Amino acid sequence: MRTDHDTPRPILLRRFGHTSAWKLALLAGFVTQLLLILFVTAIGLQQLGITTGILNEVVDVHMRKQNLTNTMVVAARERTLIMLMLTEIEDPFERDDLLTQFNRNGSEFAAARLALLSLPLNATERELIAQQGELTRFAQPLQSQVIDLISADLTEEAADLVVKRAVPAQNNVMAVLSRLDAETRRVALDASREARQDHRVARFWMVALSAAALLVGLIVAAVVFYFTTRISHEREQLATHDALTGLPNRMLFMDRLEQALIRAKRNRTLVGVMFIDLDRFKRVNDTLGHASGDQLICEVARRLRAMVRADDIVARLGGDEFVVAVSDVGMLTPILQVVEKMLAGVTQPYRIAERELFCSCSVGVSVYPNDGSTAADLLKHADAAMYHAKGTGRNRFQLYDTAMNAMAEERLQLETDLHYALERNEFVFHYQPQVNLDSGRIQGFEALIRWNHPHKGVLSPAAFLEMLEETGEIVRVGRTLLAVACNQAAGWHAAGFASLDIAVNLSSKEFWHASLIDTVRDVLAQSGLRPQSLQLELTEGIFMEDIDSAAERIQALKTLGVTVAVDDFGTGYSSLAHLKRFPIDVLKIDRYFVRDLPNSPVNTALINSILALCRGLHLGTVAEGVENRAQLDALRKLGCQSLQGYFISHPVPLDEVAGLLQRDWLPKLGAIRP
Ligand code: C2E
Ligand code: CA
Ligand code: CA
Repeated sequence: MRTDHDTPRPILLRRFGHTSAWKLALLAGFVTQLLLILFVTAIGLQQLGITTGILNEVVDVHMRKQNLTNTMVVAARERTLIMLMLTEIEDPFERDDLLTQFNRNGSEFAAARLALLSLPLNATERELIAQQGELTRFAQPLQSQVIDLISADLTEEAADLVVKRAVPAQNNVMAVLSRLDAETRRVALDASREARQDHRVARFWMVALSAAALLVGLIVAAVVFYFTTRISHEREQLATHDALTGLPNRMLFMDRLEQALIRAKRNRTLVGVMFIDLDRFKRVNDTLGHASGDQLICEVARRLRAMVRADDIVARLGGDEFVVAVSDVGMLTPILQVVEKMLAGVTQPYRIAERELFCSCSVGVSVYPNDGSTAADLLKHADAAMYHAKGTGRNRFQLYDTAMNAMAEERLQLETDLHYALERNEFVFHYQPQVNLDSGRIQGFEALIRWNHPHKGVLSPAAFLEMLEETGEIVRVGRTLLAVACNQAAGWHAAGFASLDIAVNLSSKEFWHASLIDTVRDVLAQSGLRPQSLQLELTEGIFMEDIDSAAERIQALKTLGVTVAVDDFGTGYSSLAHLKRFPIDVLKIDRYFVRDLPNSPVNTALINSILALCRGLHLGTVAEGVENRAQLDALRKLGCQSLQGYFISHPVPLDEVAGLLQRDWLPKLGAIRP
């Protein structure tokens, strides 16, 4: 009964269908990020190392340069002072000490100067050192002269030389030296400023790149987080929702219903549970295809959802079954109003696959607390009520009552039994004769299925045919029984009734089944029955499902040699005009038209025009459901060719067929038409 749909997989799962694909992407992201961070760190460290080295070197060189210029300045100054002191001191020992110091200062000065020249110098520095050299070269001899004068004890002259010439010359040197000192200081400052700037740039890049790496890392992490949460959300959605409509599934429905019941118990309110099943949904699926069926389901879902409040629950149980739970209501009336609204809403026309479609539904209603106190009971009872609504005419609703439980259980049992019936050979045919008014004889039999139920006895198709069709089992059963009927007819032919036809009914499922043509061909071959003796009966509804394909299919059957009859003619929605398109042989006038004969002028006129049409199209006619003599006479008067009905015989089991064949029908039929 539950129809399954080939529902498309949600997009995300399809895209990441192979979990390994996104795991790989994840891993790649992380590895890239790791490499990037390592790379950036390495570059940064290297750059920092370089700038730190430069900085150290700069500091080192300039410190040395400064020290050296400083040494030179101090040495020069000391030499000037010593010269002055020497002119004053008389103690020869003290004078000797000062002389030694004077000479030491001289060599210190020379060494410092030499060392300074070996260091990197700029042009100004070089220029200043050269100037100093020049000036020293001028000052040096004066100093030597002073020392000589002192050594010769000519202190007066020495003092005079010192004051007038040696000190001014030395002061010139000092002036240049102090300029040199200032210059080295300036250069050192510049260099260290530059090195610090480089260092700052390097640090900036390191920070920037690390920040970029971090950002990439954050993005990767965010993307991973986004997808994993989306996937898990989708998984959860998949587990609790119907993939086609997005509505909650049975599990989630039950869960929410339980919660609604808890609330209802506390607030002493009612909860209405509505079980909704679309009427004849299979027909849409079978004739327009699953895609259209799915579209219809989605549209119904949308309408149902739109018809209730946000906190009411609408769920799809599968196939064409929906459930709705309306909670927080104080009386039955609002629940029934919702039901009425849903029935009306679902019957509004649909536009699907360029067609206008009509659909109705049957609704079963159970109400908490009257019809059950648990979600499971309420659902079960709404289901039972729905079946009742279906059984009593569709497109309506039914409130649950306790008697339905027993019926639902019985139905379930029947469904189970039906499942084993074919294997246990419980299906048989009863045969109903069709008599020909021209010859006064039986021209053939219609084979009508019966189920020899182990406990319930012989069951008519009304009790089980729909179930067989819903489960699709009808195809297997029909195939088996078709073989039985053909074998039977072949047997009658062999027994001397060579002109007997056998008529077998085909349901929509059987007619459209891909194996139909092969099945008929095989069965004919195996039974050896003349194809012309097999008549297949199709209702006009089947034709109308898809006129072009049906015409093709009937043509294919006709190519096998069998004849085709339109069953229940006049009850369906085909117009007479359409008939011309189908290569059919026989028209069976539905018993609805026969019932009121001869008293209904309308039906008389209708049958009259049907017969005229059949004569025009060279179709045979069989009137069904002839139950009395008056009907027979009326039909004969209208020119009907053959008839079938309780007046002639009920459908009979196989062992009674021989009796019917041997009987003389003339007395029963009355006068034969001239
Ligand atoms: P149908 O093809 O229209 O079959 C005629 C139905 O009318 C049969 O009901 C028959 O017993 C009944 N009937 C015959 N004469 C009279 C009469 O004078 N008065 C009244 N009131 N009824 C009469 P049955 O056997 O219950 O079959 C019901 C339907 O089940 C059939 O309607 C046919 O559509 C379907 N069916 C029967 N056997 C098969 C089968 O083997 N395969 C398929 N697919 N459908 C079958
Ligand atoms: Ca029939
Ligand atoms: Ca019929």
